[in-house]
Amino acid sequence: MQAAFDEIAASVDQDGRLYGAGYRGDLWTAFCQTVDFGRLADLLDAPGSFMRRPSQRIPDEDTNEDELGKAVPEHVIRQLDTQLVSLGTGVTYGIMDPAHVRAMFQTAYVVLRDSGRRPLEVVSLPRNCLERERDEVSLIWNNHKGRRMRRRLPITSSTVAAIAKWQALRDTLPDTPSVSEPYLFPAITSVGGSDHLMSNNFSAGMRAWVDNLETVNSDAMDAEGNVIPFDRSLIYPYAFRHSFAQRHADAGTPIDVLRDLMDHDDPKTTMGYYRVSLERKRKAVKTLSLMVTDRSGTATPCSSTAYEQRSVAVPFGGCTEPTNVKAGGHACPIRFQCSGCGFYRPDPSYLPAIEDHANSLRADREKARAMDAACFVIDNLTAQITSYEDVATKMRERMAALPENERAELEDAAAVLRRVRAGGEHKLLPLTVVSKAGR
Ligand code: SF4
Repeated sequence: MQAAFDEIAASVDQDGRLYGAGYRGDLWTAFCQTVDFGRLADLLDAPGSFMRRPSQRIPDEDTNEDELGKAVPEHVIRQLDTQLVSLGTGVTYGIMDPAHVRAMFQTAYVVLRDSGRRPLEVVSLPRNCLERERDEVSLIWNNHKGRRMRRRLPITSSTVAAIAKWQALRDTLPDTPSVSEPYLFPAITSVGGSDHLMSNNFSAGMRAWVDNLETVNSDAMDAEGNVIPFDRSLIYPYAFRHSFAQRHADAGTPIDVLRDLMDHDDPKTTMGYYRVSLERKRKAVKTLSLMVTDRSGTATPCSSTAYEQRSVAVPFGGCTEPTNVKAGGHACPIRFQCSGCGFYRPDPSYLPAIEDHANSLRADREKARAMDAACFVIDNLTAQITSYEDVATKMRERMAALPENERAELEDAAAVLRRVRAGGEHKLLPLTVVSKAGR
């Protein structure tokens, strides 16, 4: 009995990965039922043989939630999106027409990507899963794991449009199994053991799609400057739930909001995503602190500590003016004319903001000219534009001189810091949880 338990508890799939706790638990239950049958039918030789011990239990852990850091990176998701049209191609699904199969798989992918629900929660969505209230549309979904049904999640208009399009198509499908009537994604057959699309079918369809895509690149390069392909085995349905959570954590969504969005039981699980964010931020600060310049574009690298603690992020760069640092960036004595200030410390993560600001200064100068403003107003604007242009040009030249892989790393770090700053000021993903059903 112990040998059978040990074998099942450690059983792995064909890629050598431990099966999920649920699946191993099911195997163990089936084995025990077989033994019970043997006992009832008087087929076991010795009475008391094959006794089950309390310690022989597969822990009901949610290993998936523990796989923090397994998120599909956003740049990989963008590549998948551009090739979405082929998802579902070649998949046989009962008597469903191939075009409908593709539409169903592609809709399920969009919901998975945009909602962060678990794969089972996506494939078992109710047919009428959209609830409209004034301008807001919520996804109605069931948390099977937590046994909390009819949860509501605000979703964006593009996700709503994808679901609505499939719903319209779903209504025209001939001969879907009658057991699937209440579900958005019908089962393959009425005798397949599931009333809706099964997670396994969806996973298999995604696996085939991902494996056959022409290119899926990582953001890293080898020594020759060639882009390294992304490891496709890391793209699987559950990983999109991690991507959703990581996206929010990176954007600074408050932890209690993210916990509600994820419907986590334990706040520690939610916290894990912020630890990943912090780790990324730390790495990004280390990279960018070496690229800090002064207002004239001359390199003035600093330590990570100085970058974070002895300066404050103002709109177009770092500021080291002590009073302003103490006030969190709200006490600039010269009205944020940073490009003319000795305390200004920009780095490449501010390049888009610098360029945007130079553009808006140019627009202001045009307006000032049209208003027949005094020369000193025009001159001041011109001087600011020129100095911002100088600092941006020098920064770009320094970046262009870096080897390709270092430049890619720098751009990635700059994007991380921009996201962190954006999250600190305002939420990029302004979702709030509507919970009418209660927990
Ligand atoms: S103008 Fe100088 S003091 Fe003011 S925010 Fe910019 S860098 Fe800081």
